[in-house]
Amino acid sequence: MRIRFVLPMLALVAGLGTVVATPAAADPGPVTAGDVAAADACYSWGRSLSQGASGEDVRQLQIRVAGYPGYGGVLAIDGQFGAGTKAAVTRFQQAYGLGADGVAGPATFSKLYALQDDDCSPVNFTYGELNRCNSDWSGGNVSAATAKANALVSMWKLQAMRHAMGDRPIVVNGGFRSVACNNAVGGATGSRHLYGDAVDLGAGAQGFCGLARQARNHGFSEILGPGYPGHDDHTHVAHRSGRLWSASSCGI
Ligand SMILES: [Zn+2]
Repeated sequence: MRIRFVLPMLALVAGLGTVVATPAAADPGPVTAGDVAAADACYSWGRSLSQGASGEDVRQLQIRVAGYPGYGGVLAIDGQFGAGTKAAVTRFQQAYGLGADGVAGPATFSKLYALQDDDCSPVNFTYGELNRCNSDWSGGNVSAATAKANALVSMWKLQAMRHAMGDRPIVVNGGFRSVACNNAVGGATGSRHLYGDAVDLGAGAQGFCGLARQARNHGFSEILGPGYPGHDDHTHVAHRSGRLWSASSCGI
């Protein structure tokens, strides 16, 4: 989000009695897509993206629409804008009432800017709650950078899930674990918590089964909940190769 830019700006123009979001004092012209992009502290897209495009900007888009692959789907974060990415962008646009053409342009980017914090995490989730083990993401089964990057994708999936469930808070009890943290809590060998993409969810307003069922729509290939050994008191969502969904008490 561009809070740091917008708040002083609005305060300034509000005093003049007209709320016009000017991008900078030196440039009083109308806001364009480029201005909005330039104002985002995390990441800014410089072109519209549609099927056939490729590159880092596509990969950045894929991270943010990873929660929109459709039931049972997992969107590849590969920098190639294929049919799956188009479908995910379309679902994202539909979810927020935007023109749903599967092309990521200014309106789509503006919504994404509004949904992300300066550290690129979605506004309703934080790296801190995804890692209650240590502060530097080290000691897992992947590099610290990979673990943190995996957690970011999971946060965007959770943001999609949260929106689909009425924008009520989702309770996060933890995520990444180093080997030491995993051993300390008796985690399974090879647990996805060691890779940074697993998240343990509290019941919240949605309930464990509500979360587990909904997670099937948002790119989580691993869902473990009530009825699965050790998971009667939380719902675990993660990424893995292949699918493992098990929450027998929820009919999953
Ligand atoms: Zn877990």
